[in-house]
Amino acid sequence: MALVGRSGVLAAGMVAIMILLPQKSRQDSMLEGISTGKTRVLDLSYAISDKLVAWPGDEKWFEAKVNATVEKNGYFTRSFWMLEHYGTHLDAPAHFPPGKTTVDQIPVKQFFGPAVVLDVRAEGAKDADYQLPAARVEEWEKRHGRIREGAIVLLRTGWASRWPDAQKYRNQDAQGNMHFPGFSMEAAKLLIERKASGLGCDTMSIDYGASSDFAVHHLALGAGLYHLENLADLSELPEAGAFLVVAPIKLEGGSGGPVRVFALLP
Ligand SMILES: [Zn+2]
Repeated sequence: MALVGRSGVLAAGMVAIMILLPQKSRQDSMLEGISTGKTRVLDLSYAISDKLVAWPGDEKWFEAKVNATVEKNGYFTRSFWMLEHYGTHLDAPAHFPPGKTTVDQIPVKQFFGPAVVLDVRAEGAKDADYQLPAARVEEWEKRHGRIREGAIVLLRTGWASRWPDAQKYRNQDAQGNMHFPGFSMEAAKLLIERKASGLGCDTMSIDYGASSDFAVHHLALGAGLYHLENLADLSELPEAGAFLVVAPIKLEGGSGGPVRVFALLP
């Protein structure tokens, strides 16, 4: 009996190791595969220039000046000026609620996490005011399992295909109101409960374009999540299985700033 018992424990231990190993070795080989090219890395950020789509009403968004040239000085440098919320950028929690974390204070562990991709391209094509309901998050969980703590949740609206055409991307009506899909309050509440690290989208805002109160901004930033906005084309990301590396500028006291976002593909 004792022998059977012991081997039973041993067997259970082996099963546990076999369950744990694939996950660990998958992540290890994902990282090792970057340099060999086995792991594909997508850059989800737009290159910064003065040609990007700015928020309506912003008069100046980016300027670069040449300070030194190889011909004159023997080396090349520029200086630049830009809005914190321009191009592919991160909203720090301090962007809306007072007293919250600025971009330089966000804990670094929040910048690494599995990507949860919620695909609403079909819904967005039919209704530009679409707001992702919580039920769509639950549907994702039925297919891929419960969203893990530290996940980074991306809304794939397909709006990146309109970039950098400001008129199509902002999609403003005669009154100047913008129209593009976003997260609903209920979905944001659920993702806060799941302890997601951040929310991202391939549009100008986490809130749907016609929002005037930025309710999801207040809620999610208030709960300590960050936002990634104007992400580049998300079409190559799987709904589950990619891993994100989020690298914002470390600007002291910043409300946000330009961000480089990399997706490691399984
Ligand atoms: Zn924002």
